[in-house]
Amino acid sequence: MNIGPYTFAQFKEKAAEFHSYPAPGLLIGAYMVEAAKARLPEGTLFEAVVETKKCLPDAVQLLTPCSVGNQWMSIVDLGKYAVALYDKYSGAGFRASLDLEKLRSYPEIAAWFLKIKPKAEQDSDLLLQEIERAGDGICAIAPIQVEFERLRHARMGRIAACPSCGEAYPAGDGAVCRGCQGEAPYLPA
Ligand SMILES: [Zn+2]
Repeated sequence: MNIGPYTFAQFKEKAAEFHSYPAPGLLIGAYMVEAAKARLPEGTLFEAVVETKKCLPDAVQLLTPCSVGNQWMSIVDLGKYAVALYDKYSGAGFRASLDLEKLRSYPEIAAWFLKIKPKAEQDSDLLLQEIERAGDGICAIAPIQVEFERLRHARMGRIAACPSCGEAYPAGDGAVCRGCQGEAPYLPA
């Protein structure tokens, strides 16, 4: 099954370019994104909510104008493989997830998704074949209404110079920046 304007093979290449390899999650995610997108009325200005940090955000980034950087995509990490696209003004949209019942017809996808088989025992060619054959046939699509209050992007407010490191930071974070409060992931130089 095609993925939006791409054949499966074309999208696989695009995925490899962007993601460094054509991850199964990215390919399945692409079908999920297209399935949700197809249900929005033509011309809808939409944004995205992704419920995992793994793979799926890249599918959104490749197939829609939404990116983490432009903040039209929110990652709400529930650890779930699901994505919702919604009208940015009304909040109405569609959420695509994987239907465990429908996955029964695709044992290799099920084994991969549910981590039933160790990676070494997975048949990656068969997995990709099943993904192409399944298309969005393994998705559950449901209408959703986004609660904007829960999604509002953190406003930065006033910017100050950190008295400890000298760099700019949101003044609301405290007397020194969060990096200097011990949250930076680096060893001391
Ligand atoms: Zn600082």
